[in-house]
Amino acid sequence: MSAYYRSGERARSNSWKETKDYLLSLSVEDRRQFYRTGHISLKDIPIFTPTSNGNDKPRYPRNEKLDQKISLIRGDITKLEIDAIVNAANRALLGGSGVDGAIHDAAGNKLVKECASLNGCHTGQSKITGGYYLPAKFVIHTVGPIVFGCVGAEDRASLRACYKSALELAVQNNIRSLAVPCISTGIYSYPREKAACEALATVREYLDEHHDKFDRFIFCVFELKDNEIYLRNLPLYFPGASTGSMDKKQTSADKEKKEECASTDKEEKREECASADKEEKREECASADKEKMEERSSKGPIDEEQTEAQTSSDDKEQTKHEGIGTIESVLTYCITVWYGNCTDADRKSLQRIVRAAEKITSVPLPP
Ligand code: ADP
Repeated sequence: MSAYYRSGERARSNSWKETKDYLLSLSVEDRRQFYRTGHISLKDIPIFTPTSNGNDKPRYPRNEKLDQKISLIRGDITKLEIDAIVNAANRALLGGSGVDGAIHDAAGNKLVKECASLNGCHTGQSKITGGYYLPAKFVIHTVGPIVFGCVGAEDRASLRACYKSALELAVQNNIRSLAVPCISTGIYSYPREKAACEALATVREYLDEHHDKFDRFIFCVFELKDNEIYLRNLPLYFPGASTGSMDKKQTSADKEKKEECASTDKEEKREECASADKEEKREECASADKEKMEERSSKGPIDEEQTEAQTSSDDKEQTKHEGIGTIESVLTYCITVWYGNCTDADRKSLQRIVRAAEKITSVPLPP
C-alpha cells in the first residue's frame, strides 16, 4: 500500500477524531490535497490600511500595535487558509443555510459528526471543532441572536458575546489568524450597520488587550452592502496615522457614542424595524434553512464514505441530532411566518418556544 493511499485512508477514516488528528498533524502543503475548494493564503489577504473617513471622528484612539493585524475581505470565508474561521451557527450546531451551510459543505461530514458530540451551543457562546477538508485548520462555531423587530440590549450583549467568546476560544487554542463573517446579519436579521459596530467595537477592545496573541484578524464580508459598511466604519475603530489624531477629551466624549452606529437616524430606523421586504427574505431564508436540513436528514452525509458512515454508531447519534436541528429549523420557520401578525403576548410565547428549543438542543442524548 503506498504512503499516499495510506494517508488518504486516514484522512477519510470513519472516525472524525482520527481524521481531525491526522489532518491537523499535516503541514499546510500536505493538507492542500484534501481541500474541497480553492484557497486564499494568509499572505494574499490584504492588510487594511485606514484612510481618513470624511468628517467622522475615530471612536477609538490609534493603537500602533494593531497596525498590520486587521484585514477586510469580501468573499467566501470557506476559502481562507488560516488558523480558524468563525461559523454563524444555530444552537443545534448541525449545519443550516447561509455561511453555516457553506462551511459544512466544504468541510465534509466529519464536521457535523464532531459538532454532534458538542451538545449544541447557547446564544452568545462559541465551540471549536476541526476544519477537516477546509483550508482553515479549525472552525469556531458561535450562535448569534435572532432579532425580531427592534434590537434590544440583550441582542447587543449576545452579539458582542459571540465575538468575544470566539476570540477567547481562539486564544485558548493558540489560533493566531482568525476570520469572522457578519454574524446574525443573514437569517437572524440583525441590522447590518448596528451589527458591524458591535463587531468592530468588541474586536477592537479585545485586541487592545490581546494584540500579542494574534497575527491577523479578518473581517470577512460576503455582500457588497456589508463591504461598504465596514469600509466606512473600520477607520473609526482602527484609525491609522492620518485618522488617529484623537485627543483624550474626545476619547471620553466618544466613549458614550461607542455603541451607536455611524448611520443616520433615518437609516437606523429603516434597518431597525423589520420591513415587509425583510420579512419576505426571512421567510425565504428560514424555508431554505429548513429545506437544507431536510435534505441533510434524507440524504445523510455527503462524504465519499457515505455508505459506511450511515451504518456507524457515530451516525446513529448524528441522525438523532439532525432531528433536533430540523425541529429548531421548523420552529424558526413557524416563528418567522407567524411574526408578521403576532401581538406582544404572542411574541413572548414565541420566545418561550425558542427557549424550549434551546433546552432541547442542549439535552445530552443517551449513548
Ligand atoms: P445568521 O443566521 O447568523 O444570520 P447567515 O449565514 O444567514 O447567518 O448570515 C451571516 C452572514 O454570513 C451574512 O452577512 C451573509 O451574507 C454571510 N455569508 C453567507 N455565506 C457566506 C460565505 N460563504 N462566506 C462569508 N460570509 C457568508
